[in-house]
Amino acid sequence: MAIDFATTIMTDAVQGHEARMTTFDTVVLESIVETADTRTLVLDAGGERLDWRAGQYVSIDPHQFRSLGSFIGYLEQQKGRREAPRAYSMCSAPHEPYLAITIKEEVFEPGKTKYPPLISGFLVHQVRAGDPLVVRGFAGAYTLPEDVETRTAHILHLCAGSGSVPNVSMIKDSLRHHARLRHTFIYSNKTWDDVIFRDSLARLEEQHPDRLQVINTLTRDPGPLPYGVRSGRIDADRARAGLARLRVRARHHRVGPSRACGRGHDGPSAVSRIDARPPAHRRRTARTDQDRSLRLMCGVE
Ligand SMILES: Cc1cc2nc3c(=O)[nH]c(=O)nc-3n(C[C@H](O)[C@H](O)[C@H](O)COP(=O)(O)OP(=O)(O)OC[C@H]3O[C@@H](n4cnc5c(N)ncnc54)[C@H](O)[C@@H]3O)c2cc1C
Repeated sequence: MAIDFATTIMTDAVQGHEARMTTFDTVVLESIVETADTRTLVLDAGGERLDWRAGQYVSIDPHQFRSLGSFIGYLEQQKGRREAPRAYSMCSAPHEPYLAITIKEEVFEPGKTKYPPLISGFLVHQVRAGDPLVVRGFAGAYTLPEDVETRTAHILHLCAGSGSVPNVSMIKDSLRHHARLRHTFIYSNKTWDDVIFRDSLARLEEQHPDRLQVINTLTRDPGPLPYGVRSGRIDADRARAGLARLRVRARHHRVGPSRACGRGHDGPSAVSRIDARPPAHRRRTARTDQDRSLRLMCGVE
């Protein structure tokens, strides 16, 4: 069977959701340390009925944080425009009792970045349980369509760093609602200590051994690596190996005109370009050939 990826963005399942965007008050229930620079904020929306889909995001307006007022004023003067809300994907799934977002701190790198990042470090290091947080949601077309099971039996997630956040939400949601769908989650990070959702993904894998396989790959960890963890970048061979374990034969990969996945002709160049892109949240989905047995979801930092 040949697998031919033609890139599409899934918008069909979420039309109308943008129209139902609302701003609502939450209280931070917990700030969970994921790694040294990443935290998950668990948010209590006070029992409000929330209508959203796994993979979507909320926006946080920095102007709500009084202690950032002078910093915001200075940045707005420098940039010549108002600071926009920042988007954060949910790592929680809609069936879970609370919303949760995962934030990775961005840092100022002298000579490399133009301005100091505004709110990610604040959300990671300053926001704590009991703090109020106003969020606006829900938005985003990076979701699985309602009829995903009629289109595919297997989803391959290729993720790097905090690009995994919406995919983790989708996996949790799908394991509950799509009884026949399998997931292979190939996750690239620099070191073992950078891997977010490490324990929760391992638990999910244990609970669903036939439906979820997690493959961790590390690009800069000198080792020794934990059992099963690979070293190096995600390339086409690694993606094929992941597929082979799930008994999907991949003879030929072609990635469509996705900026996240690169415009390649063959697997190795196309797939290996996924983690070589500049840091940006660019998510694309890809459809298989006519038998539609596999769908590719990319979550890139
Ligand atoms: C759909 C979506 C989902 C996302 N989900 C997540 C998530 O789940 N977790 C997560 O951690 N992040 C996520 N992000 C990224 C997040 O929204 C923020 O961009 C990130 O946290 C950085 O915000 P910041 O305010 O700290 O940095 P910013 O102030 O936005 O700065 C970030 C970088 O941009 C540069 N910059 C800022 N303004 C300018 C300018 N005017 N000119 C030139 N350079 C500039 C800065 O120098 C800095 O290097 C998501 C983004 C999108 C679009």
